[in-house]
Amino acid sequence: MSEDVDFDVIVVGGGVAGTVCAYRLAEAGHEVLLIERGAEPGSKNLSGGVFYCRVLAEVFPDFVDRAPVERRITRNVLSFLNDDSHVNVDYWDTRLADPVNAVTVLRAKLDPWLSAECEQAGVVVMPGVRVDGLLQEDGRFVGVRAGEDELRCHVVVAADGVNSFLAQAAGVRAKEPPGHLAVGVKSVIGLPRTVLEDRFRVSGDEGVAYAVVGDCTQGVAGGGFLYTNLDSVSVGVVLRLDDLQAAGLSSSDLHDHFLAHPAVEPLLRGGELLEYGCHLTIEDGPAMAAHDLTRPGLLVIGDAGGFTLNTGLTIRGMDLAAGSAIAAATAASAALAAGDFSQQAMDGYLRELEGSFVSADLRTYARAPGFLENPRLYTGYGQLLADVLHGVYDHDLTPRRHLVPGALSALKASGLRIDQLVRDGWAAARAL
Ligand SMILES: Cc1cc2nc3c(=O)[nH]c(=O)nc-3n(C[C@H](O)[C@H](O)[C@H](O)COP(=O)(O)OP(=O)(O)OC[C@H]3O[C@@H](n4cnc5c(N)ncnc54)[C@H](O)[C@@H]3O)c2cc1C
Repeated sequence: MSEDVDFDVIVVGGGVAGTVCAYRLAEAGHEVLLIERGAEPGSKNLSGGVFYCRVLAEVFPDFVDRAPVERRITRNVLSFLNDDSHVNVDYWDTRLADPVNAVTVLRAKLDPWLSAECEQAGVVVMPGVRVDGLLQEDGRFVGVRAGEDELRCHVVVAADGVNSFLAQAAGVRAKEPPGHLAVGVKSVIGLPRTVLEDRFRVSGDEGVAYAVVGDCTQGVAGGGFLYTNLDSVSVGVVLRLDDLQAAGLSSSDLHDHFLAHPAVEPLLRGGELLEYGCHLTIEDGPAMAAHDLTRPGLLVIGDAGGFTLNTGLTIRGMDLAAGSAIAAATAASAALAAGDFSQQAMDGYLRELEGSFVSADLRTYARAPGFLENPRLYTGYGQLLADVLHGVYDHDLTPRRHLVPGALSALKASGLRIDQLVRDGWAAARAL
């Protein structure tokens, strides 16, 4: 291998994708530089916070015991929220505790931990530095530029998140249209641990994740979430950017509206605002994470490559970031061993992805983004469910009716049509 490089691999971005990739490469004995523009890894990052963390078992076998995780999610609640009612599907299952399936995390704690693991494995971590450009020679990417400095390497890994400047500079991706993006606004509300456990009916290190659809977004495509941490709650909304713009609503107003909702406010009452932030996320991950993620000497991973998946039931990005990072590290290692950084060698990453859960899940849920565009999900169905149940439980001394005629009359009153119901049910079955 030529001597004129500063590092074997330069990873740009110290989020989940970048740290996992850098760690994996350093463990394999390579010289790795991890560059992060934030003053500290994690300082610029934001996730709702449920990490489906089994993917990390092969990287950090004791991840759940050593990493700063908050709670193990054993309850998942799907909540249809109307302005004065809600209908919840509440699923608790101890099987989700062992093996640990998903944990809540706070990125301000998790990312510094991941970065410290990288350092221990021998990665040179350089925080507070923004990469401004890529170095290219003879059609191959050979390093990065940060201000006046040029740093050379055999492989550049772009892990610089949803707005990936590097992927755009390399011509891998164009600037995303608003229809591919959503904006997330999130608060972390501190509560005494006993208060939180009483209110959310959780105990020990178990936790609950709410996925909320309906009034929290006031008709805008998207949803709300509430995730329990040890002694705080991560709560917020994710809103499709084009729909938000068309509705002329403000994301922070919708966030505040959700937190003040009569079904939500009592859960947070008296809490202390610990964190507040907003961040873009990708909505059309399956379409974006196509197969153009490589150039000679360059690999694009995590959000930078479009790896997120929102099905309405779950929001996933961190596990896909880790999965793509592992695939990229394997391909980069093979390229370093062979001294071959050509397009074909870099495409080893795509072959690794193809054999992983990342590509498989993106394919399985390819219809989810289209399904979530249906406005009836945000305005019609939650109220219909509440109306059907109202007919069951509201004993107003009129003669009782069986469930099916009651439901049909609620359907008629809702303005929804039975053919829409059937079509949407079929679309849901195919998408989710
Ligand atoms: C509101 C919201 C809720 C979410 N909820 C969940 C959830 O519950 N579960 C889940 O799994 N996923 C969730 N996601 C998605 C998840 O946050 C992302 O998929 C994940 O963070 C992607 O990790 P990443 O490492 O690819 O990118 P990031 O975490 O964004 O990291 C990119 C890093 O690159 C750095 N960087 C950028 N440009 C440069 C540069 N030029 N030079 C140097 N450094 C640079 C940034 O500072 C950042 O640290 C959510 C996202 C949002 C917005």
